[in-house]
Amino acid sequence: MEMPKIDAAIVARKPAIIAALQEVLPDDAVIFDEAEVRAYECDALTAYRCPPLVAVLPRTTAEVSDVLRICHQMGVPVVPRGAGTSLAGGALPTGDCVILGVARMHDVLETDYPNRFIRVQSGRTNLSVTGAVESDGFFYAPDPSSQLACAIAGNIAMNSGGAHCLKYGVTTNNLLGVTLVQMDGTVLEIGGAHLDAAGLDLLGVICGSEGQLGVVTEAVLRILPKPEGARPVLMGFDSNEVAGECVSDIIKAGILPVAIEFMDRPCIEATEAFAKAGYPKCEALLIVEVEGSKPEIDEQLALIIEIAKRHNPIELREAADEDQAKRIWLGRKSAFGAMGSINDYMCLDGTIPVSSLPFVLRRIGEMSKEYGLDVANVFHAGDGNMHPLILFDANKPGDLELCEAFGADVLKLCVEVGGCLTGEHGVGIEKRDLMKVQFAPADMEAQLWVKDVFDPKWLLNPAKVFPLDITASRRAV
Ligand SMILES: Cc1cc2nc3c(=O)[nH]c(=O)nc-3n(C[C@H](O)[C@H](O)[C@H](O)COP(=O)(O)OP(=O)(O)OC[C@H]3O[C@@H](n4cnc5c(N)ncnc54)[C@H](O)[C@@H]3O)c2cc1C
Repeated sequence: MEMPKIDAAIVARKPAIIAALQEVLPDDAVIFDEAEVRAYECDALTAYRCPPLVAVLPRTTAEVSDVLRICHQMGVPVVPRGAGTSLAGGALPTGDCVILGVARMHDVLETDYPNRFIRVQSGRTNLSVTGAVESDGFFYAPDPSSQLACAIAGNIAMNSGGAHCLKYGVTTNNLLGVTLVQMDGTVLEIGGAHLDAAGLDLLGVICGSEGQLGVVTEAVLRILPKPEGARPVLMGFDSNEVAGECVSDIIKAGILPVAIEFMDRPCIEATEAFAKAGYPKCEALLIVEVEGSKPEIDEQLALIIEIAKRHNPIELREAADEDQAKRIWLGRKSAFGAMGSINDYMCLDGTIPVSSLPFVLRRIGEMSKEYGLDVANVFHAGDGNMHPLILFDANKPGDLELCEAFGADVLKLCVEVGGCLTGEHGVGIEKRDLMKVQFAPADMEAQLWVKDVFDPKWLLNPAKVFPLDITASRRAV
């Protein structure tokens, strides 16, 4: 993966950059020791690493503003960072950048139950937003599998989703407002604790902008009353295609489960060995969960089970109590860890129309044979957001490149069938060079204009999202 050349002139000014940052931040918030900055050399796409020049850990919007103003004046690139769980290399540093981590900005600033919102600093972890309101019967809906670790900042930047987003939508559907600091230090209030803001929808532009347009320091999030209950059903099938058809039929019937999760045999076997959830031996399984009052749950599950039976499932297991529900989810929630215990893997994130699931799954199986690399599929099937995990050996020369080529072919396939390159993980560096597959030159240019407006010097989060050859001239200016 190509990265921009490190600017030696910036590196030569390291002592001056550190001194300027130390003037506006406490000493413990400026990290520049070569060993210590290694903690920030990668995110969860660990195949790519590069220690930053300096890392800073501000605590307030004012401090973030000071840092950005200084970096803007000194011409230093800045890579915003939440918890560093990006699977797309979104928070990968360059050797001449300042990493701006918001991990110390984790306070709850306001909670308003009558108007159903919470205002938090952006470094607060996803799960701890729900943690702050659950004793009062509320929750924050978007639930990435990384929710214990990932920050709201990263969720907003990547427009993250999760298992339960089929019903509640992804981050953009649950975000009401942000405080955004621009690269020159200007602080903007976008949206707010109300349903829709007047004027252009800048909130829609910021959500999913991958740290390209500014640094989010605070967020107003929609919180919802907890549903009365939820119940999952586990279904086993003897082929991926049949499971895919079942998903397609459930959606076609107009039922809206809160989640439909898919796992194929390699993934089931790995999670069984890892988490021992008691999953059946089968080619593919679905976990379908519905929410509501008991009669609502009974009615929806009856319809779903009726549809599933038409596809001759080899197992249908409805959770009878909380314990069984937890066991049904246990394997799914351990899937990434389980795959990681087998080998290195790259987790893809293409989205396809649900009706294309059977075809795309079959093609991925064929490609796996062509490339000679194993692949396991685990994903949010209800909204067509696929996560093929391609296994490779990082220590075997050529394996990473083979894996990248396989991944690129899968993502191109997603676009060919009418889908897109990313459902929830973002473009980052991983899919940067595939953007031309998705966007015509004029479409891409429109996006570059937005970047030009928010970050005219192109200092924010270099080398992500846009292909390097397309942005080279803008960066040079
Ligand atoms: C095991 C595992 C499971 C996962 N499951 C899911 C899942 O189910 N759904 C899902 O959507 N994702 C998932 N992810 C991916 C990842 O957790 C999400 O993309 C998450 O939102 C990243 O949050 P973060 O705080 O770690 O951000 P980081 O990795 O630190 O950064 C991600 C991006 O956000 C930008 N950014 C960070 N902070 C700011 C800020 N303050 N202002 C502006 N930009 C900023 C960064 O520059 C970068 O581009 C998973 C990751 C792992 C490792």
